[in-house]
Amino acid sequence: MPNELPNLRIEIPYLLIRKVKGSSLSKEELLEFEKDLKKFESLVEKYKRRILLTISNLVGLEWEEKDIIIYPFPRSVKIPSISFPLIIALKKDPYFSLYCLIHELCHRFIELNKNLYEISFKKDKLKGESFAEFLTIEVLSRIFGEAKAKELYEEEKKIVTTRNMEESSKLVREFRRKYDLNKKTLFEYLRDGI
Ligand SMILES: [Zn+2]
Repeated sequence: MPNELPNLRIEIPYLLIRKVKGSSLSKEELLEFEKDLKKFESLVEKYKRRILLTISNLVGLEWEEKDIIIYPFPRSVKIPSISFPLIIALKKDPYFSLYCLIHELCHRFIELNKNLYEISFKKDKLKGESFAEFLTIEVLSRIFGEAKAKELYEEEKKIVTTRNMEESSKLVREFRRKYDLNKKTLFEYLRDGI
């Protein structure tokens, strides 16, 4: 019997947005934010169960969290998406926002699972990042198909500035060769030292 999935919901951090931006959102920015948010929200509602379930199934462990709050940020405020707290910098393409959400959820899942975190790549930042990226692509492929997953990953590669994407892509390819998640769960591979 699978455990319960976490309750994933959106809360708009208006105060924090103002703090980070240094002023209130203009009327145009607010309008844009509301539009982006509406599209993002409907995708989250539609796919959240499948996303949470797919992450847990591919890794082969249960979620440690009961409640997860997503804090969306408008496009007009410069902030990267982060996993703790779960800040999602919205994009024009709502599917790309969803991609960012899945990526940060993968980080959370890995970091909060003690069994997994110990044997995954916590000491190597680039490797840990590529590992989350790999898992994100696997999750996306299963929900939206491989072509869409690739398309979104290419999009991601264009905007990332915080890590060496060439090195990271190499590692992602290596993980894909090593871990066939149709055969074994990620936890099984790592536990066996693969
Ligand atoms: Zn990341």
